[in-house]
Amino acid sequence: MAISRRRFLKFSAGTAAALGVNVFDNPLLKKAFAEAVKETPVIWLATGACSGCSVSLLNALSPRIQDVLLDQVVPGHHMELAFHQTIMAASGDLAMEAMYETEKKPFLLVVEGSVIEGDPRMCEVGESHGHGIPGSAHLERLGRKAQAVIAVGSCAAYGGIPKANMNPSGSIGVGDFFAEKGIATPVINLPGCAIHPDWFVATLATYMLAGPEAIELDEHGRPKMFFSKLIHDNCPLRGHFDAGRFAQKWGEPYCLYKLGCKGPVTRANCPEKKFNAGTNWCLDNRHPCIGCVQPESPYEDSMFGTVPIQAATPPAAYPPIVTEHRQEVDFSPTYGALAGVAVGAAGVNMLKKRSAEAKQDIDDKE
Ligand code: SF4
Ligand code: SF4
Repeated sequence: MAISRRRFLKFSAGTAAALGVNVFDNPLLKKAFAEAVKETPVIWLATGACSGCSVSLLNALSPRIQDVLLDQVVPGHHMELAFHQTIMAASGDLAMEAMYETEKKPFLLVVEGSVIEGDPRMCEVGESHGHGIPGSAHLERLGRKAQAVIAVGSCAAYGGIPKANMNPSGSIGVGDFFAEKGIATPVINLPGCAIHPDWFVATLATYMLAGPEAIELDEHGRPKMFFSKLIHDNCPLRGHFDAGRFAQKWGEPYCLYKLGCKGPVTRANCPEKKFNAGTNWCLDNRHPCIGCVQPESPYEDSMFGTVPIQAATPPAAYPPIVTEHRQEVDFSPTYGALAGVAVGAAGVNMLKKRSAEAKQDIDDKE
């Protein structure tokens, strides 16, 4: 049975009510449906998830989640959140019907949580003839049909905390699961524990405007627009690192490298975006970056062990770049990665000196 627009409005109203929104008082909703807009049906499937990424998205303030759900995400494009088992008002067969009807047409699949390949009873979504349906079965079926998949959170992207040793649930990430099953649907990884809501909304908007091919991904399947810069290069404590001042115990106001900070090997725009509506982030709270967006997070690297400093990259606060001078800089092979970073000759020499001092300090103390 096809879902009518009237019925979809009923679902949406229920979802919005759960969010504390009075749909029918909202002029944006009336406007959205009064005008011709392109609908992007979305099935949000939670598998081995704690729902933290959903909570992060629900707390988005700019844009607010009610605007994402009810208004056009970008002009002429509206997200039709047809299935989200955590927040949708419908339940039981009615909820599952929304999923089954939506997958008959082109849709975007969002996966939250790891894929559980161990005991299927650890994650069941709906039931058939009195038996629970494994989340992985839904994912295999929906993954083949979807136009693209967004894996939200480190668990969906790489396995995350559920995959940590001993991994009793047999958890893996969506990309690895698709590789096992021979599913070629494009997967966009948005790792994080939890994701930044802006990462999801901006990815969704780009997908709506230009399709998944418009989203340039790095070697870990993450959009480069959010996951290019090292945390280390934009950290407010970077001056302490360069000067060789390291916190030796919690509460000291210095660089947290020796307390396990993974900033030097973690790429994300957390320092610029910040969390909780831009109020703070891990380093502002004086907690080391644990590298939550990296595939090895959280336990492949020791939480409090130090990471190797493989490339002495300059902090973002250094002066702008004069690339034609860089050939004249005498770098050792250790710092060869700097060749791709444009820095003025004076800035480079200063950086080289500071980096060497910092490295020496680390070596001396270890
Ligand atoms: S090691 Fe961590 S705390 Fe120190 S400067 Fe780099 S990101 Fe900041
Ligand atoms: S600073 Fe590090 S641990 Fe904190 S959210 Fe960003 S990537 Fe994750």
